[in-house]
Amino acid sequence: MNSSAYNPFQIARQQFDHAADLLDLDQGTRELLRNPLREYHFSLPVKMDDGSTKIFRGFRVQHNDARGPSKGGIRFHPQETIDTVRALAMWMTWKTAVADLPLGGGKGGVICDPHSLSMSEQEQICRGWVRRIFHDIGPKSDVPAPDVMTSSQQMLWMLDEFESLTGQHQPGFITGKPVGLGGSLGRREATGYGVMIAVREALKELEIRPQNTTASFQGFGNVAQYAIELYEQMGGTTLCVSCWDQEDGVSYAFYKKDGIKLRELREATDPFGGISKGKAKDLGYEIYPGEDWLKQPVDILIPAALENQITEENVGMVGETVRLIAEGANGPTTPRADHVLREKSVFIIPDLLANAGGVTCSYFEQVQSNMNYYWEKEEVLSKLDMKMTSAYLSVSQFALKNELSMRDAAHVISVDRVAQACRDRGWV
Ligand code: GLU
Repeated sequence: MNSSAYNPFQIARQQFDHAADLLDLDQGTRELLRNPLREYHFSLPVKMDDGSTKIFRGFRVQHNDARGPSKGGIRFHPQETIDTVRALAMWMTWKTAVADLPLGGGKGGVICDPHSLSMSEQEQICRGWVRRIFHDIGPKSDVPAPDVMTSSQQMLWMLDEFESLTGQHQPGFITGKPVGLGGSLGRREATGYGVMIAVREALKELEIRPQNTTASFQGFGNVAQYAIELYEQMGGTTLCVSCWDQEDGVSYAFYKKDGIKLRELREATDPFGGISKGKAKDLGYEIYPGEDWLKQPVDILIPAALENQITEENVGMVGETVRLIAEGANGPTTPRADHVLREKSVFIIPDLLANAGGVTCSYFEQVQSNMNYYWEKEEVLSKLDMKMTSAYLSVSQFALKNELSMRDAAHVISVDRVAQACRDRGWV
């Protein structure tokens, strides 16, 4: 079964149902939270460089905004589906709640492959996306951000379009903007650093020194690169990185016995996190099939690419040495694979907690943008550390006290917070 056979929205609902059972949630609240509050589907015509017109499909799903404006990224991906966006929007609601941010959850997407689009074609998609939906999003209602294959440039085009349409500077409309144009220092690093702050806390609990650990990563985009950066600073050794090759689009595992060097591997990388196989070979990397990142003799696995990557079919590949998995991606482990890993006593830091650093820093960016006053990088990163550490500790203490996995604990805490906000507002 390949990853597309798993419907992420079904998985997100299963996880929610389980948390709702543990909380003994009433029927009305369950029904409200199992579904998005609102969703938008639209067509985006683009005048292609070859003179033809191509129509792309775009989405925005606002899952819940009881705790504050909907918040979440916009993905560009050729296999995007509305159910993936619905799942990701729901996960954003839980993520902002578990990090205790005054925000709700949303997600957007466009079915497209930016590898095969020029800058001008991408700009038209970004501007078109905002034109279709600008009445229903904004700094006080729904605040987008970067995600898979979108970055600060796309955010800036979207901001510019929004500001042109509304006739006002409103940098708080979107996060992940370039520094100097409303962006926050530290935002680029935040998701990856946040993953490693969570790993640092977990290693403390497991009484393992980071210097004595090795790790294998899936993905080499923004999340993985900055997670590796902080991991190197913590003294850890990354043995393997798996991602797709720029030329043939196939996924490979890039391995170096003494540890990969981040700076060196970055030089062989495209803006979407694809590594050139040829360049990596010249740099002395051993190259294996993509899935082999799972079977490395390491202590830590970090899936930091897409959803449904550790499945019941490949979970058997996970090596006996693995003690810890930190989910840098959203939804990388299917429920069955999660069960198998738990039986093997692998400690899992779930996505909604492990990768909450990105949206936490987005929240800081929004605050700075709305004030039009920007903080130093140290201030941003120390606030990030504080928020991530306190979110981690509240989940791990709750898990211990109630004999739950970290995933169940994180879901129960966040669903409870959102349900409470819905009740307090009189929605249910
Ligand atoms: N796309 C990121 C996530 O999945 C960040 C969202 C945001 O900053 O709003 O958490």
